[in-house]
Amino acid sequence: MTTQSIASPDTSRAWIDIDLGALLRNAEALSRLACVPLLPMVKADAYGLGAVAVARALDTLAPYGFGVADVREGEELRAAGIGRPIIVFTPILSADIALARLAKLTPALDSAAGIAAWTEFGGGPWHLAIDTGMGRTGVPWDAMHSISSMVQRCPPEGAFTHFHSAELDNGSLAEQDRRFRAALEVLAVRPSLLHTQNSAAIVRQVPSPWSMVRPGVFLYGVGTGGAPSVIPEPVVHLRARIVSIREMKPGDTVSYDATWTARRPTRAATVGVGYADGYRRTLSNNGAVLVAGRQANVIGIVTMDMTMVDVTDIPCAVGDIVTMIGTSGDHTITIENVASASHLSPYEILTGLRQRLARRYG
Ligand SMILES: *Cc1c(COP(=O)(O)O)cnc(C)c1O
Repeated sequence: MTTQSIASPDTSRAWIDIDLGALLRNAEALSRLACVPLLPMVKADAYGLGAVAVARALDTLAPYGFGVADVREGEELRAAGIGRPIIVFTPILSADIALARLAKLTPALDSAAGIAAWTEFGGGPWHLAIDTGMGRTGVPWDAMHSISSMVQRCPPEGAFTHFHSAELDNGSLAEQDRRFRAALEVLAVRPSLLHTQNSAAIVRQVPSPWSMVRPGVFLYGVGTGGAPSVIPEPVVHLRARIVSIREMKPGDTVSYDATWTARRPTRAATVGVGYADGYRRTLSNNGAVLVAGRQANVIGIVTMDMTMVDVTDIPCAVGDIVTMIGTSGDHTITIENVASASHLSPYEILTGLRQRLARRYG
């Protein structure tokens, strides 16, 4: 969990502004498309934004419940007073069953042994994971007979599958849907809660054919690729202050390995954020940031705590705020921009923003 102090977050060096209003508008946009309740995925500390703050904000929209990765994440939400259903999507191991029961969490189960262990312990609602091609968790869609008697004895409240390529137009969505339907046919009783769609699938299958949808990344401001019908508002704004400015002569170099050399008289600003904050080293000589609402390029290698940018034509001073990700004035550096410059996925950029950065909610 984010160590969110009562005192105002530390904005002396680098921090993240999190726009909870934009988060709610992104959630509402998906609700309008899906026409069924949301099960927002707040796993991995809500993709790094702070699970408690995000869940409390989304709770006002009356979602069905929340999705987490493991029992600890569920316990954190319960401790914060979240009372809605919480589904744990990573298969829980027997050592965690007691804690899951205590916190009234709903496990996603995918084996006869897992279902038996959960039931022997007193049971409670659970969801059946069905593997329709993701190859990660779930009963294989064409091997449902392996659990059908178990399922008859302890029927699940829900059943779900997960798409492997919802961002691609390769026909796999339809094929996985077909497999999911075939798998459900094998069950004696159809569970009352059926769900398949992550963010990209919500945008591609309108309205939802099922009981609820499981958005993640879109809520946090990352689009779903292709030519989407809806684009999320930015939620995450990574800010950092200029901590030093220097005038460089042609031939002067910047940062480790001297990979950048001034070709002209250059004004360089040193910004107090680096790869130990999650501003990736692959942005060296490659990233762009916003200074005074204008774009400035990263020069030299990104260091652990500091990053240099070319501000030759941009008026700025030590102490000024630089936007590394997000919006400043009329410009936005999207998480997708940073991800493609870093040769990483937007998911990694988001979840890679480190705890050293204070989270400031607005
Ligand atoms: C993470 C996850 C999601 C959300 O995916 P996004 O692409 O972030 O919308 C949905 N369902 C499951 C099972 C997940 O693990």
